[in-house]
Amino acid sequence: MRIILHIDMDSFFTSCEELRRPELKGKPIIVGADPRGGNGRGVVSTASYAAREYGIHSGMPISIAYKKCPNCIFLPVDFELYVPLSQKIMGILRNYSDKVEPASIDEAYLDLSECKDYTEAVKTAEKIKEEIRKIGLSSSVGIGPNKLIAKIASDYQKPDGLTVVRENNAEDFLKPMNVRKIPGIGPKTSEFLKERGIETIRDLQKITKEELKETFGKFGETMYYFSRGIDDSEVITEYETKSYSKEFTFQKDTKSMEMLRDVTLVMAEELSKELETGKKRFKTVTLKIRFSGFETHTASLTLKEYAGGKEEIYATTNKLLQKFLPLEKAVRLIGIKVSNFEEKDPKTIGLARYI
Ligand SMILES: [Mg+2]
Repeated sequence: MRIILHIDMDSFFTSCEELRRPELKGKPIIVGADPRGGNGRGVVSTASYAAREYGIHSGMPISIAYKKCPNCIFLPVDFELYVPLSQKIMGILRNYSDKVEPASIDEAYLDLSECKDYTEAVKTAEKIKEEIRKIGLSSSVGIGPNKLIAKIASDYQKPDGLTVVRENNAEDFLKPMNVRKIPGIGPKTSEFLKERGIETIRDLQKITKEELKETFGKFGETMYYFSRGIDDSEVITEYETKSYSKEFTFQKDTKSMEMLRDVTLVMAEELSKELETGKKRFKTVTLKIRFSGFETHTASLTLKEYAGGKEEIYATTNKLLQKFLPLEKAVRLIGIKVSNFEEKDPKTIGLARYI
């Protein structure tokens, strides 16, 4: 049984601003573009709960927000303030699970499957919320059998919410909701569905998988499963992001250098493709070699520059392989791992929707 927790900070940017300037607490604050007397371009990044009472929400053009509430406090987005607070929160989360996936600056998934049951998971959630409250920030948490349910649950009772949806209730929990609650269904898709009489997730369940696939392609299939509360996706830790490694076990232990080189070339090719997809560049290559009788060795080499290509992986692996020559025993398994990734600017991690 899997137990997944999703945490979402309540009105994160404006809450950070309130933390820096306590005199702003409870006031209608809008963080986003410059309103310039109602003529500014750009959008609202975050509106505080007091500002939301004026009908202002994130994504709204800043000029409209200004018209709705010219007396609101308009502040520019200040990542220098938010990023360290975000990192502090992620640090707290990592104390409660080895598997933490930051989904954006103020959102993360935790795999709590180590908890023996939901009761224990709820206790963990309460502790997390309390630790975050001590920093002066408020969060909402959802707990469920998968990422999809946890994410929808965290949004269910905002702010300062804690919503638990067990597997057997997941489908009923979703049924009355608008299709927009499903991640990936935006205004265009929901409008398209509405024109066909589909507004709730219950309505969506009536469409066959084939029809959805025909209309929406691969995402149609996802919609089919999501509308039933089914989501098998894993919580992916940020830096190991599905480990960039490959292993190959020979059917019969071998001493043939030709075979070892062929296999490493294929693995290097596969790895470089995955790195390209993940937009990752590495500095360190580790070779793992297991001989007959389970004797296992590893050797690493760190390059001067970041690399990502198959040639670099292959050449480095071969250099490492030299250390084990001449082969005294036959090889059972050979593996390559690349690590030491180029660090991304924290400001670019999961922030696309704010900029
Ligand atoms: Mg949030």
